[in-house]
Formats: sequence, structure tokens, C-alpha cells
Amino acid sequence: MRRLLRFILCSVLLSSAAFAAAAEPAKPLVVSSFTIIADWVQVIGGKQFEQVNLVPSHSETHGYQLNARNARDLRRASLIVGMSPTLEPWLEAWAKANDRTPRLLWLFDDRKGDHPGHAHGSDPHAWTDPAEVKKMTRTLATRLGTIGSAGLIETSYNQYVKEVERVDEELRRLFATLPANRRNLVTQHANLGHFAESYGLRIARTILASSSAESADPSARHFSELLALIRHEGIRVIVTDAGQSDIFARRLAEDAGLPPPLSLSFEYLEPAGRPGDSWTGMMLLNGRRLHEALSTR
Ligand SMILES: [Zn+2]
Repeated sequence: MRRLLRFILCSVLLSSAAFAAAAEPAKPLVVSSFTIIADWVQVIGGKQFEQVNLVPSHSETHGYQLNARNARDLRRASLIVGMSPTLEPWLEAWAKANDRTPRLLWLFDDRKGDHPGHAHGSDPHAWTDPAEVKKMTRTLATRLGTIGSAGLIETSYNQYVKEVERVDEELRRLFATLPANRRNLVTQHANLGHFAESYGLRIARTILASSSAESADPSARHFSELLALIRHEGIRVIVTDAGQSDIFARRLAEDAGLPPPLSLSFEYLEPAGRPGDSWTGMMLLNGRRLHEALSTR
């Protein structure tokens, strides 16, 4: 009898523990491809989701290679958020191979050809344009609302939009002061097309031909063409990507008699606690540095 009682008691305790676990389900996992998207998931989704980010700060997103841990996280994700199949082809390939395409949300799907305003075609660096950021975070908020509390997400989104607008206004004010002959620049890879379009700048040429940040060194012929262009158009600013080789750009600046290239970090956010650890901080930091170089060099 005593044994039976103990058995019943144990069963009750066990099932109530199981019930407690069921009452507090694990948070849905949202996996972001790189730090800028991780920031948006955090700001808009708050603490409702478990969050994992794939490409760490200071790493190169275009040519990233998934590791075993990434694949494990991706497999158990409720939602996977990427920028564009052009920026993260490795993520698209993984989703296709693992049957996860329905769980993968592209914030800027440039395969659809619904971005007619952009002369630069499929430039996936849409996060450098606050107008696009408003659209992309809208898309993100709607999708997060289907796996979390839509009301809370909506409130966070509405607050965030105001922040995006503040960044846009400050950059607009800043770049409006530049005279027409100080608006041309050369960039390392084709990542500032959206930014240039927003603030009335002109990317005269890029050092690397493809939109990827990691490519083979450009040819000697390309070098002399760039040098001639820089002299002819009176370009004073060559922008390089922080963390990527700038040997070519340095030689170019030297031969053109320009100050050393300006290293900017539009491609990722800094680790938490450092300047540029949020999209707003990153945009203002890089925007101010670019404006300073264009107006003083
Ligand atoms: Zn890039």
C-alpha cells in the first residue's frame, strides 16, 4: 500500500512537472544572417525570441561559409532572416538543400525585379538607405508577428521607424551642405549605391568589379583607368572596406596624390558596447566620417 502511494505521488509530481514545462514553451528561434539583421530582430522582436546570428561582427558576409553549429541552429529555427539571395547565396543554397525555403525570409528580394528605382540593378546593400530600412523592417515585423505577439512587435516597430527617420534627417542635413564638385567618390566594392542615391552622391567607379567584398586583385589596366578617372573628375575620396585588403586602394591614392583611403564599416555592426553596435549608430558613424572626408579633402 505504502509503495503504491509513493508510486501515485511520484506520478503526480512527474506529470505536474511535465505540465509546468509545457506551460512555458521554449521561445521560437529566429536566426539572422548577419549583425545588421540581428540588430533589427532584437529591436523589433525584443525578448520574445531566442536569437542566433550567423556571420559575426568584422566578418565578411558575401562569401561566408556555414559551420556545423550554424547548420544545427538553422535546422531548428522557426524563422531564418537574410538580406538578399545576392548577398547571402550560401544561405539560399542551404535552405534549398535542406527544405527550409518556407522558413527563410528575404528582406530585400532583388530576384523579383521589383526595385525599379535603382539604376545599379541588384545591389543588395539596401540597409544603407533608410527608406529601404523602413520597408525591410516592416516586412520583418509582419513576419515576426506570425510567430510572436503581434501587438508588442507593432509597438516596437513604430518606435523604431521614428529612429530610422531621425538618422535619415541627420544624414540628409549633413550631405545637403556638400557642393556639387565634392560629391564624387570611388569605393572598394559596390556597396554604397543605395546610400549615394539617398544623399545625392555619385560613385564614379568601384575598385572591385563584382558586388562581393572579396575578389581577386584588379588588373593593371583597371588601375590606370581608375587613376585617369580620379584625376579627370577631381575625386578626392577613395573608400575601402574595413577589414579587407586595401593595398590596391593605397597605391591608387598614392599615385593620384590623395590622402590615404577612408576605411568605412558599412558591412557589419561592431560588437555590443562599441560605437557602431546598432544600425543607427553604424549609419551615423560612417555617414559623418564620409561627409567629413568629402568636405575637407
Ligand atoms: Zn558588401
